[in-house]
Amino acid sequence: MRINSGPDRQNPLISAFSDLKKPFNNKIALLLTALLCTFILISCEASAFEADPTASDLTVTDSPEIPVEPDETEPIESEPETTAPEIEPEPLESESLETETIETESEPAAAEVSIAVSTGKIAYLTFDDGPDKNNTGRILDILDEYDVKATFFVVGTRAERCPGQLKDIAERGHAIGCHSYDHDYSRLKTADGLTAEISDWESAVEEILGELPPSKLFRFPGGSPIKDENNLKSVLAELGYSGFDWNCLNNDCLVKKCPADMTEDEWLKQSFIDAYNYGSKLKNAPLIILMHETYSQTADMLGWAIEFLQSEGYTFAALDELQGSWYY
Ligand SMILES: [Zn+2]
Repeated sequence: MRINSGPDRQNPLISAFSDLKKPFNNKIALLLTALLCTFILISCEASAFEADPTASDLTVTDSPEIPVEPDETEPIESEPETTAPEIEPEPLESESLETETIETESEPAAAEVSIAVSTGKIAYLTFDDGPDKNNTGRILDILDEYDVKATFFVVGTRAERCPGQLKDIAERGHAIGCHSYDHDYSRLKTADGLTAEISDWESAVEEILGELPPSKLFRFPGGSPIKDENNLKSVLAELGYSGFDWNCLNNDCLVKKCPADMTEDEWLKQSFIDAYNYGSKLKNAPLIILMHETYSQTADMLGWAIEFLQSEGYTFAALDELQGSWYY
């Protein structure tokens, strides 16, 4: 399946991204591209979460881009302007299944981050902000159809409201990770807050499943703190959790920005391809794909995304197959 990517189909977001890709052999352009991509990724995740658990399709609302609960203080700033991720897009070296342990540079105050990365082509689909009463079942059915395992970064309060969907995720053999108890950025700024959020999440999930998921996986709402002045990545590691950001996405949470001359489906697919062209070229990084259970458009295009990745030579696994953390 092809997406019309001609000039008349370009939107400003993608055009800017594409323009930056042209001089990829230029060091400055590389850093700018990485910075821009990080900004897009963080902006997407930061705007993704909808507090209303009954609203499964968020794109038809008139809510602001970054929903904030009435009693919520300002969300964690993603700070894309301060630090460019020190990553350079380079072709994957081989398709060998051998693994190697690489060290990524961390912020001075952050935990040392390491991860064993297969040099084979493995894609890690991740779904944030669920469970969702309308979309989780559809997504699970599609994953079963393609015999694909994925990772669901679940919010505790949503699990409490959709316990059946959480059980379904577990029973179908997917990995369940913590995405905080209530997605409240204000509670996730300090070590104590992060610890409490995880504790509350564990209580909620254990109550529903009867046990905690076997692997301790975590994704920071809005992405991991880049400065990490409060050493939250270290706190997370001390709690036994592996943390995961992402390097590919379908921009579902920005679907309201879909240009008028494209359908939402076309735009999500084109966004996915553009992000894939970035993430798949990162050296020694697992291809981790961010999507959200809260968007019906993601369920609509999931089969296409799986087939696209298969056509690129990828197989699929859940993040519990990895050891260590990966942050951008
Ligand atoms: Zn989220």
